[in-house]
Amino acid sequence: MLQVNNNYLKLPGQYLFSEIARRVECFKTQHPDIPLISLGIGDVTQPLAPAVIEARQRAVAEQADAASFHGYGPEQGYAFLREAIVTGHYARYNVRVAADEIFVGDGAKSDLGNIGEIFAADARVAVCDPVYPVYLDTNAMAGRAGIYSPDGRWDKLLYLPCTEDNGFCPDPPGPHDPVPELIYLCFPNNPTGSVISANQLRAWVDYANDHGSVILYDAAYEAYMTQDYPHSIFEIAGARTCAIEFCSFSKLAGFTGIRLGFTVIPRELNVQGTCIRELWQRRQATKFNGASYIAQRAGEAVYSDEGYRQVQQSIAAYMANAVLIRTGLKELGLSVYGGVNAPYIWLKTPDQMDSWAYFDHLLQHAQVVGTPGSGFGPCGEGYFRLTAFGSQTGTVEAMKRIRKLYGAC
Ligand code: PLP
Repeated sequence: MLQVNNNYLKLPGQYLFSEIARRVECFKTQHPDIPLISLGIGDVTQPLAPAVIEARQRAVAEQADAASFHGYGPEQGYAFLREAIVTGHYARYNVRVAADEIFVGDGAKSDLGNIGEIFAADARVAVCDPVYPVYLDTNAMAGRAGIYSPDGRWDKLLYLPCTEDNGFCPDPPGPHDPVPELIYLCFPNNPTGSVISANQLRAWVDYANDHGSVILYDAAYEAYMTQDYPHSIFEIAGARTCAIEFCSFSKLAGFTGIRLGFTVIPRELNVQGTCIRELWQRRQATKFNGASYIAQRAGEAVYSDEGYRQVQQSIAAYMANAVLIRTGLKELGLSVYGGVNAPYIWLKTPDQMDSWAYFDHLLQHAQVVGTPGSGFGPCGEGYFRLTAFGSQTGTVEAMKRIRKLYGAC
């Protein structure tokens, strides 16, 4: 008798964002005349760079003529984009990556969610706590996570607590701890906004090489760093034998709606003698028909001189919001993290309020919406995430309201 993949039935409901929406709706029904400001969104709000729009328009025009029409493209992505990534991104950080080690896809989420397929079903997985939920749920769907317990953890996953004490950046496990085989790291981090230094990342690379583990490195927010931290795990010696890197045009260039990302698998990455790059190539050739030509031309434009400058301006505008939020909250005496090298501000809820109580407090008394930290994992309890992706006027107004709430306007 046919059965469904039982692992899906073990997934908890998507409680976080549906519960936020429920509470927001409830507030709006009770106070239809009070406008809310959301600093909870993880989506960009600024329009695409002019250079990107022009590239898209040119690509659309090409599709209107049989002589320049493009149908199916290479599964791994067009060479023009992969070359642009090599010279426009990796060369900037003195990183040696070959174009044929780059797999262009429709965004980081798909590849992060699918990569587990090429590893054993019983691979031991480590994730940060708090964490971007995609790593958890996709491993649960694959049957690697075990049972979800009421304390908000999967019993087979290894959790790496990210706390104030470790600067929200965990060290590798000690000699007596269980050894994770797949290790998800994301820096700059969503949700905590923390970064990892070259020395800390080197410790992880050395650990992975010593133990035969693979690091799945999510660099979706690398463009937001204003200080000197690694933009790529491949800046670290030894990473080519133990790491896969996931990058996205979503936050780099506002492509959340266009959809474009890329994954880098070095030739040297082997597991028990099997070349991981070849395995992923086989997987992609079977299950993926490439990102659209128009999206890839738009991505290429991001690395043109004009495009790069324009994209940096958008990022700078978001980071100006981050500064407003961060400094504003600090002036109120709150403990605030992130917001310097990431578009996320992670604040400690005052008066030991739990994350949801603080959500309600800001909603009811300042009409500002954020995201409860507990929604990202048990170690997020007692924290709250605000994002810099809103408009400047919305961010200024939100901070005015928060200052007023604390009697400091
Ligand atoms: N990784 C992290 C940490 C993210 O926060 C996000 C999006 O919010 C992604 C990956 C997914 O990005 P994409 O839009 O490229 O799928």
